[in-house]
Amino acid sequence: MTAPNQTGWLAIAGLGPGDDRMVTPEVTQALAQATDVVGYIPYVARVAPRPGLTLHPSDNRVELDRARAALDMAASGKRVVVVSSGDPGVFAMASAVFEALEGRPDWQALDIRVLPGITAMLAAAAAAGAPLGHDFACINLSDNLKPWPLIETRLRAAARADFALAFYNPRSASRPEGFAKALQTLREECGADRLITFARAVSTPDQRITTVTLGDATPEMADMRTVVIVGNSATRRVGPWVYSPRSAG
Ligand code: SAH
Repeated sequence: MTAPNQTGWLAIAGLGPGDDRMVTPEVTQALAQATDVVGYIPYVARVAPRPGLTLHPSDNRVELDRARAALDMAASGKRVVVVSSGDPGVFAMASAVFEALEGRPDWQALDIRVLPGITAMLAAAAAAGAPLGHDFACINLSDNLKPWPLIETRLRAAARADFALAFYNPRSASRPEGFAKALQTLREECGADRLITFARAVSTPDQRITTVTLGDATPEMADMRTVVIVGNSATRRVGPWVYSPRSAG
């Protein structure tokens, strides 16, 4: 165990959805002061190399190991930024870092800050109009870290409560069937006319925003670069936009 060194710190930062202009000045400042940047390979690739900065890209499936390595570096006096896309508290590294702190009072005494970022669903909603303008719920459709029946229960409950819905990690090559099931559940609960927006690669040159009805939606419209937004019963189109009115019903 390394002795705590008060000059070290750890920032857990969100890089936003892709566009550099959506990186907050606070995050830019932390990156400028950092000695080390830790994170999933494509996110670390968004940080410009410079003398005095060591980049530590790693694979996505070792979040707790990555968090421990970052904490260890901060404890030894490094200025460490752990990067996530979007916001670090939304299905990302912040929780992994706090989990790694459990049972480690030495790490708990470190200077640790969470620096928020623009999460994908907010950038997507802005690109589409204002589909999250009333109450909404947000669900991660990946069953890597939770069982599918729990996802199904939450999805159904949120749809019945007439929340607008945002879905992260909707569909990957390794689990193509989950999103098809989710669409079927949504059609049962919300009907075929409900609006659904597929927002892909928001704020990047590949951005594509497509709004259809649930009746016309197909699983192939989503991939891992897509955040999916389903309207509530009042969500409607106006011109090229989609919005949810401020009042319910
Ligand atoms: N912490 C991130 C989410 C990580 S989970 C955030 O706050 O945005 C990864 C999922 O986020 C992807 O599968 C996709 O659903 C969504 N996502 C991330 N960036 C996106 C973008 N630029 N456009 C659309 N969806 C995005």
